[in-house]
Amino acid sequence: MKVFKFGGASVKDSKSIKNIIKILKLTGYDDVIIVVSAMGKTTNALEFLVKDYMKGNSSYLSILKKIKEDHLKIINDLFKGTEKSPYNDVIHLTNELNSFLKINKSRDHSFIYDQVVCFGELISTKIISFYLELEGIKNYWLDVRKCIKTDSYYRNAALNWKKTEKLVKNETKNKSTIVTQGFIASDSEGYSTTLGREGSDYTAAIFAFILNSSSLTIWKDVPGVLNADPRYFKTTQLLKNISYREAIELAYYGASVIHPKTLQPLQRKKIPLFVKSFENPKGSGTKVFEGSKLNPLVPCFILKKNQILLELSTLDFSFIVEENISQIFSLMDKYKMRVEMIQNSAISFAVCIKDRYENLKDLVSELNLKFKVEVKENVSLYTIRHFNNPSIKEIKESGKRILLEQRTYKTAQFILI
Ligand code: ADP
Ligand code: ASP
Ligand code: MG
Repeated sequence: MKVFKFGGASVKDSKSIKNIIKILKLTGYDDVIIVVSAMGKTTNALEFLVKDYMKGNSSYLSILKKIKEDHLKIINDLFKGTEKSPYNDVIHLTNELNSFLKINKSRDHSFIYDQVVCFGELISTKIISFYLELEGIKNYWLDVRKCIKTDSYYRNAALNWKKTEKLVKNETKNKSTIVTQGFIASDSEGYSTTLGREGSDYTAAIFAFILNSSSLTIWKDVPGVLNADPRYFKTTQLLKNISYREAIELAYYGASVIHPKTLQPLQRKKIPLFVKSFENPKGSGTKVFEGSKLNPLVPCFILKKNQILLELSTLDFSFIVEENISQIFSLMDKYKMRVEMIQNSAISFAVCIKDRYENLKDLVSELNLKFKVEVKENVSLYTIRHFNNPSIKEIKESGKRILLEQRTYKTAQFILI
């Protein structure tokens, strides 16, 4: 069997959903698991809803209303005048979400977040499953929470591979075309969990791994993996072939086209990953496979915006030693900061971080008890894999100030402001 993953951009409106049918008719859809994200920017909207709800702000109700209306409009576009429509299912799901918000007593932001955002994927897959049916593609709608099991680390749950493996095999047995949700899962008590933003690629890889899939294809709004994000770089080149190792490195440094957790399960079983354009499904796209040489071998640029640079030194002018570094890292863990880059010298320690959960203030006040802390917000982290002189020159002449620079054999990194 094969696994396909359609992300938010590929299901953002009725036209895109119609395009999925075209792709499935072109590729075939027997023995396919179709993993789908929430439509367009629905997850972002649900995040705003949670924020307002947590503040006790009744405006969350208007966000909910808007999300419901947007989906009903798509249903109207796709199913007008037809006998079977997902209308009732979607109304039922939005009512379920509304009731949760009304009766919920928890104040745990991450818990509430997961109970809410999962509706984006539940709704999108309902609509797509019905539409496939309407177009003559018989399929089975699977609530993925029945089989993808995680711990209760809400918003970034860790997979329980053993339980998941057994349940996935059971739930998919004797079914030919399955439509299911990416990103969402459930814990041992049955509460919804999520695998981290953009986690649908990872869900698809989990299915591919457990079911020994012959390939995984993720359908994107780009021709494949490029040597730079076209949103930020004017000229880009398609990477036709990449090794798993190279793709892991690119994803790790922040090439957001593939979720970093996706690649290792595939690599373990040597399952090829194709990244293809949903606008041009016949295009070659990118093939990620064992031992493929990076083709073409060009410098790859990765830009991460909105980073924070902390420069720490001790209050008593002593050197930064193991004990200090251990304290710093345990605070990074406590405040869920993602550490992107570090640089150590005798008297100072620089760390570039991403503040995923708005904890910077608390982190800095705790660090201040032991260190002198300099904070630079809004810096950018540039990474160049396979750098060469012209690519370094390009960064150096970008007109931005370089705060930190680091090079290894294949990778150069710069923090710019
Ligand atoms: P989806 O959520 O629809 O699956 P994403 O938006 O997460 O898709 O990923 C596609 C986007 O990734 C592209 O629109 C592009 O801006 C961005 N991107 C970042 N780095 C790269 C890269 N190296 N190659 C291609 N696209 C990239
Ligand atoms: N819908 C989720 C998100 O936007 C998961 C995904 O799209 O991969 O983060
Ligand atoms: Mg996405």
